[in-house]
Amino acid sequence: MQDKALVWKRVEEHQAEFCALSDRVWGMPEICYTEYRSVAEHSTMLRQQGFRVTENVADIPTAVMGEAGEGGPIIAILGEYDALPGLSQASGVAHYSPLPGNGQGHGCGHNLLGSAALLAATALKEWLAERGLPGRVRYYGCPAEEGGAAKSFMARAGAFDGVDVAITWHPSTQHEVAKPLSLANTRMDFFFTGRSSHAAASPHLGRSALDAVELMNVGVQYLREHVPQDSRIHYAMLDSGGIAPNVVQAKAAVRYAIRSRDVHAMFDLNERVKKVAQGAAMMTETQLEISIMSAVSNLLGNRPLEETMQRNLEALGTVPFDQADYAFAADIQATLTAEELESCYRKSGVKPAQPKALSDYIVPLDSHGEVMIGSTDVGDVSWVIPTVQAHIPTMAIGTPGHSWQLTAQGKMPAAHKGLAHVAKVMAATAVDVLTDPALLAQIKQAYAAQISEKPYKCPIPADVKPPVQPRPADL
Ligand SMILES: [Zn+2]
Repeated sequence: MQDKALVWKRVEEHQAEFCALSDRVWGMPEICYTEYRSVAEHSTMLRQQGFRVTENVADIPTAVMGEAGEGGPIIAILGEYDALPGLSQASGVAHYSPLPGNGQGHGCGHNLLGSAALLAATALKEWLAERGLPGRVRYYGCPAEEGGAAKSFMARAGAFDGVDVAITWHPSTQHEVAKPLSLANTRMDFFFTGRSSHAAASPHLGRSALDAVELMNVGVQYLREHVPQDSRIHYAMLDSGGIAPNVVQAKAAVRYAIRSRDVHAMFDLNERVKKVAQGAAMMTETQLEISIMSAVSNLLGNRPLEETMQRNLEALGTVPFDQADYAFAADIQATLTAEELESCYRKSGVKPAQPKALSDYIVPLDSHGEVMIGSTDVGDVSWVIPTVQAHIPTMAIGTPGHSWQLTAQGKMPAAHKGLAHVAKVMAATAVDVLTDPALLAQIKQAYAAQISEKPYKCPIPADVKPPVQPRPADL
């Protein structure tokens, strides 16, 4: 317990400067591979804290890695700092009030995610040095979690090679060890090329790419009846071929998201969707080009790691929210629907007798909540190294993900308390791994058993590069 007390003390000492880092990142919301200012903040902080810094990780200019310590096992703490479009919102205001600017906002709380991870890594670095123990801690600043699959590209490039355990978290409404439930996801684009012609005077000379897209969509509707029930297939039109009905559309394109419970099942489903597209091309005598823009694997769990994190969460207790935190959370809840509040409890599987504005309870490890059906690029990390994720409350119960309400709470005192709290949970979990070789062996055994039959295969093809964005001219 002495080690935990020491590392928690280090977290408390650094808490203020990392809350300030989180607030700065909140104030410069950058989306999908444009996080140049945010990564500069994180790189500067890594240098200030004395980490050995590697920039441009996996050829991604908005990814960074900092390492400290010597020898021993390597613990990775994963952080993020990307924002979302359309979720700009004033801080501390419980009604919709976007800020002037480009409309981007931290509607998923990744400003907190990155800062707390870097705080945990800093506390661990100091603890390792004080104790004189062999062991290394790495902070990975990972961009583009929202729609950019940066961690999948980083995993493919070997950025996590040699790491023993990865620890991360996500801002939440609950205290819990995250359940390893997410869907593998491929974003695949289908470009059809036909031949234009006058749709009235010479329709027989035209070959419609728009027809091909429509036939593909109909084919996939029928396919949906015959896929595993936890699969999800959805689409968006990229190009419907123009606005002139009297011109046979020579070009049309559609983007699909194809999701499965398991990455290997997704590979099979991808091939079936491709066949439907090929059938549509054949029927319409059009040419088809297919490209994958990004993909992520499902999450793999690791029971010994999850149990370790749960023990540390229970030892630490819940976030010490005060009356002002509860009051603002109640104001936020007043903007939510009954369904939003209810689904929050259904998700965790725990419903307290009295409704609450903020969580003051810990979800048991084996609670059976509603299955999460989104996707995350943490999935790919979990396939290459044992990985565990905490959820710690930084916002009112019921706050939907990707909402203005979430942005509004991202730099409030409650969020800062959650930030420091989860840094303690992550650091304590790392301390256990670094000081207990038997535990590390168990963790590795559990991981090896999971991937023995179906080893990791990155769902992004080798020739697809991360869609990095240019550095802003004024940086
Ligand atoms: Zn997120």
